[in-house]
Amino acid sequence: MTADGFNDGLDMARSWYAATAAASPRDPTLSEETSCDLVVVGAGCTGLAAALFAARSGRSVIVLEGGEVGWGASGRNGGQIIPGLRKGALELVQALGEERGRALFHLALEARQLVVDLVRELEIDCDLRLTGHLLGALKASQMRDFEAEVACLERVMHYRDARLLDQAEARAAVATPEFVGGLVDGQGGHLHPLNYTLGLARACRAAGVRIFTHSPATGLETLGARGAVVATPGGRVRAKHAILAGDALLQGLSPRVNRRIMPVANYIVATEPLKDPKSVIAGDMAVSDSRFVVDYFRLTRDGRLLFGGGERYTPRPPADIGAFVRPYLERSFPQLAGIPFDHAWGGMVSITLSRLPHIGRDGPVLFAHGYSGQGVVLSSLAGRLLAEALDGNAAGLEQFQHVEPPAFPGGRMFSGPLHVLGMAWYALRDRL
Ligand SMILES: Cc1cc2nc3c(=O)[nH]c(=O)nc-3n(C[C@H](O)[C@H](O)[C@H](O)COP(=O)(O)OP(=O)(O)OC[C@H]3O[C@@H](n4cnc5c(N)ncnc54)[C@H](O)[C@@H]3O)c2cc1C
Repeated sequence: MTADGFNDGLDMARSWYAATAAASPRDPTLSEETSCDLVVVGAGCTGLAAALFAARSGRSVIVLEGGEVGWGASGRNGGQIIPGLRKGALELVQALGEERGRALFHLALEARQLVVDLVRELEIDCDLRLTGHLLGALKASQMRDFEAEVACLERVMHYRDARLLDQAEARAAVATPEFVGGLVDGQGGHLHPLNYTLGLARACRAAGVRIFTHSPATGLETLGARGAVVATPGGRVRAKHAILAGDALLQGLSPRVNRRIMPVANYIVATEPLKDPKSVIAGDMAVSDSRFVVDYFRLTRDGRLLFGGGERYTPRPPADIGAFVRPYLERSFPQLAGIPFDHAWGGMVSITLSRLPHIGRDGPVLFAHGYSGQGVVLSSLAGRLLAEALDGNAAGLEQFQHVEPPAFPGGRMFSGPLHVLGMAWYALRDRL
């Protein structure tokens, strides 16, 4: 697989995912003026799911991808299936009240089942493991928060798949001296995100979607009821509707959309295969901790520890990604000190101020992004909701429109630096 600089940054080519990617055909580059019902910008899970569902309802669909299919966040993330939204149940209820909080939570829960169903229906070989997700507590006070969260999940959300672990149970599940307890969500798990994304692309092609790679959208013109035109260096697509699914890499295509997300770089390593993987994570769960800058980890099918940790709020990536992540991994697993890393890479996570995704529409242009670190399953759901909205069923889309995240303060020029200061402060609090 090759890339041309659009979405191959932060060493994606050296990732464990690129090394274990399923074979995939080479798609053409757009070099003509053409038209269709729907043009989608971005071949990650959001864009591909939208394209797939739109094609299934009879629309002609073109996907424009600036680089390679799946080489954005969708194909390089931790692969952790974390049910729900980045905002927990308690926070949702505080922000929206019980009824609306519950409705949004249940809509988000559909995401996990949608991915499970698509993997089975489309026969996507992506190491899907429904082994649960463990959120580890680092302090006793966090266990009190977890207790309140589980109580809210049960009483308000009527969700019974979450349970608490005491210290002994948490440490039996994960061999880290850091955890004083944990919260397990039995509906969590993990998958190989690049192979899942490539599987969606395969299904799109089979459904008649035309995918163009190395075709970055450089201009978007909206024509009101007459649709939209998207330009690339080699051509133009005129369509009744356009979907923006570029997430953190969308850049300046739509100022309204761009102002609501903040790209943050995050880094991952894959160790050499462990001698005894089960001695590290006994039940093969996906695991994350309760830091503001989350450490997250899981095993791979070939017995490696895939560990994500550390964010950078400056545009410059670390010179050596493995060396940057190592202290975080060794803090969690001192027994693995010095273990060789076979792979190290990074990616851009897009977060919103409210940590709720930004999903909505603006005339003929629809968009979904900003899953704030929980897009592995939410992105496919968002794509489906956008496609449903085109069919006149906008109920799901509207639920998210009601909770549109605010724009980052300070306008385009200052929102970055101001937010970076805020994020750095929280990260410092973690360390203290
Ligand atoms: C390092 C990392 C770890 C993560 N870990 C997890 C995790 O464990 N669990 C979890 O739930 N979430 C995780 N996430 C978040 C999750 O990966 C994302 O929320 C999700 O993949 C977003 O999918 P998407 O399709 O919206 O965006 P992407 O997958 O980023 O797809 C967008 C695509 O649009 C293309 N594009 C952008 N602009 C243009 C343009 N102008 N023209 C043409 N193409 C364009 C890009 O090249 C890209 O291919 C992680 C993210 C990162 C970066």
